[in-house]
Amino acid sequence: MTYQNTLTFAKELDTKDPLKAYQDQFHIPKDKDGNNWLYFTGNSLGLQPKATQEYINQELKDWANFGVEGHFEAKNPWMPYHEFLTQNMATIVGAKPIEVVIMNTLTTNLHLLMVSFYQPTKTKYKIVIESDAFPSDRYAVQSQLKFHGFDVNKGLIEWKPRKGEDLLNIEDLETILDDQGDEIALLLIGGVNYYTGQSLNLKRIAEIGHAKNCMVGIDLAHGVGNIKPELHNSGVDFAAWCTYKYLNSGPGSLGGLFVHEKHAHNKDLNRFAGWWSHNKSTRFNMRQDFDVMAGAEGYQLSNPPILSMAAIKASLDMFAEVGMDALREKSELLTGYFEFLLNTIDSDAIKIITPTNPKERGCQLSIQVKNADKNLHTKLTEAHIITDWREPDVIRCAPVPLYNSFQDVYLMVEKLKELVC
Ligand SMILES: *Cc1c(COP(=O)(O)O)cnc(C)c1O
Repeated sequence: MTYQNTLTFAKELDTKDPLKAYQDQFHIPKDKDGNNWLYFTGNSLGLQPKATQEYINQELKDWANFGVEGHFEAKNPWMPYHEFLTQNMATIVGAKPIEVVIMNTLTTNLHLLMVSFYQPTKTKYKIVIESDAFPSDRYAVQSQLKFHGFDVNKGLIEWKPRKGEDLLNIEDLETILDDQGDEIALLLIGGVNYYTGQSLNLKRIAEIGHAKNCMVGIDLAHGVGNIKPELHNSGVDFAAWCTYKYLNSGPGSLGGLFVHEKHAHNKDLNRFAGWWSHNKSTRFNMRQDFDVMAGAEGYQLSNPPILSMAAIKASLDMFAEVGMDALREKSELLTGYFEFLLNTIDSDAIKIITPTNPKERGCQLSIQVKNADKNLHTKLTEAHIITDWREPDVIRCAPVPLYNSFQDVYLMVEKLKELVC
């Protein structure tokens, strides 16, 4: 595609966009004159699909009408409600249904997964994360090391970009494993880095970790609904994600979890259990003996919050209708256009640090600001162009293919140009 730097061209791309109609299926925040904000923070909190309210109202109505009987009598019975989400969720991350469940929240799930997949010995106990890992992941890993009685400084290994570079190089991960693989128990890596937007090759990471008998886990918070991670084929042992970013399920909504099929029937793995991990056919016998369910479902502890799941169902139904292929196709075009426009800005005040290869990124572009001038972000926000600022010096900007248009990115870059030139 040869892009052009004109509003007419942006509008032309919008006219040809097969997903154009979806923008109207979302609530887009507006300024006081009724103009839509330019919203580029779907990587932080996705916008609300208009259908979400109906989905939640259905459950409120069924609760009002049926009380506890709603577990069986509701239009979407609450007892198996999570199962209504499984197939669509599995398709989005490229997994088999037995490998996926919606439950809890992301950091909680990382801990529960580490109960099973971080089983350190005195000599093989270290954990590798990216140096730019999301803080919650870092704290989770540090607290796991401490919990097992290890020195955090010795136990935590950071995979860093090379000096003077912003992105991770897979060869450096290989070097870490070559040097210290015998002491490493777990790799816990962000599939798409929240800061740089770099999308990593999960299959390579799994191979590198497994060659040294390490477990490999992926945080997919910035990958789910954004890239096609092909979790099953990647061979990673486990993954976890949230659903309130690209999956548009509302603030603090439930997370998702993946446990590879190869572990589905392993009853010897450590795990923290609850009644919802128990075989559902005998769960209500309230028996003494624990009979764990196979696959990801066996990681559930509690009966889940249906109102949050209803919002997730609204979103996943939309994703199923659109399909990740169509979404990715538009996403590459949209982010490509955004990148093209940014590159027309003749100023060294900003620099894109996200990879230029579409296979190595999702929709987000991270714009590094010279001298960490946060004022630029403030000015954008004042113009109702919503991006986010991440310390030390990056504006993260995510054109989301479901509700952002080519015109959105054109107008955004025009404003940015005005501010830096
Ligand atoms: C958003 C995000 C989190 C947030 O964790 P919660 O437990 O949902 O609050 C954690 N890790 C990563 C990589 C994230 O992007």
